[in-house]
Amino acid sequence: MNTYLLVENLTVKRGNFELKGITFDTPRGSITVILGPSGSGKSTLLETVAGFIKPLRGSIKLEGEDITDLPPEKRKIAVVYQDFALFPHLNVFENIAFGLKKLEKNPFRVKKEVLKIAKELKIDHLLKRSAHTLSGGEKQRVALARALAVRPKLLLLDEPFSALDPQNKGLLRTLIRKLVKERGVTTLCVTHDVTDAQNLGEQIIVLAKGELLEKGTPQEVFFKPKNPFVARFLEVNTLEGRVLRVFKNLLEVEVANGQTWEVSSFEGDPKEGDKVLLLFRPEFVKPCGNFPKNRLRCKVKGVTYGGFFVKLFLNCSGREIKAVFPLRELKGLDKEICIEVEKEFIHARR
Ligand code: ADP
Ligand code: MG
Repeated sequence: MNTYLLVENLTVKRGNFELKGITFDTPRGSITVILGPSGSGKSTLLETVAGFIKPLRGSIKLEGEDITDLPPEKRKIAVVYQDFALFPHLNVFENIAFGLKKLEKNPFRVKKEVLKIAKELKIDHLLKRSAHTLSGGEKQRVALARALAVRPKLLLLDEPFSALDPQNKGLLRTLIRKLVKERGVTTLCVTHDVTDAQNLGEQIIVLAKGELLEKGTPQEVFFKPKNPFVARFLEVNTLEGRVLRVFKNLLEVEVANGQTWEVSSFEGDPKEGDKVLLLFRPEFVKPCGNFPKNRLRCKVKGVTYGGFFVKLFLNCSGREIKAVFPLRELKGLDKEICIEVEKEFIHARR
């Protein structure tokens, strides 16, 4: 990986809170999502990269240059916030042109650049409107246009979708992906929302209580996280088992008394008799029917509703398993059900 941004051993104090020894790097033109529960230190990390907070220790390098001690305005980093932070009394054109005017003195070039970015963000019809008259989705596009207009070396987004309705959220995510790729601007996006992270991130970093617990591709982090806290936070099921037999592309694992599951994805060279942890997402748990293997009998211990899906909290031979079923499969509390998980969707780790 060719490193573009390199954050090393970054330690930041804020009152009683500490961001502890954060290390990660990102390649040029990529989108990295910093995911974590509220209060985990995401904004603190972003503000330190932007230069608004001084770290206690550690360094930040951008394109090989150490920027740890540079003031924010010298870093060529643009930030977009959840609440847009537009100048309400200025019109859209003036808002987008704001930072650009400081860099580019030729008004024709400023105008050309503003028009270009406004077109890319589909807000060119709004240029004369006063910022306070815009909808949330429009405001966020203007904020994004203002940030991109200065052609920053790094784009930082702090919960950019939180104030938007689901439809605008989806549209803006798609737009950001497209813009970031077309303009090749390296981006760090902070969010507490797993769906945002999944839709945007090429690299995912998970923070909790000031520590970096996990980093990897979405495939790694969302499907087979290494850290137990991350597995819980991302709702990945973890089931302990014992290896009965090892084949070339298949493990046979005893998951409960007399219950054997087959697993076709594994790491760490498991041997007969080894304890392994099986990881699988709740979305891959199905009611029995399609696959005659990998079953467990469970009792429904809790139900929550999300759109047209229900999340079931199950007790399966003493193990807790979460399942996401279509609403029509809704089962009442304490109902006995049979679940199965196809072997391709389970990952085993020693
Ligand atoms: P996140 O963005 O993940 O929600 P933050 O980085 O905003 O988390 O905050 C991390 C922790 O630092 C929180 O416990 C918060 O209360 C604390 N904190 C944030 N800003 C300050 C400050 N200016 N002074 C003292 N503590 C702060
Ligand atoms: Mg925050």
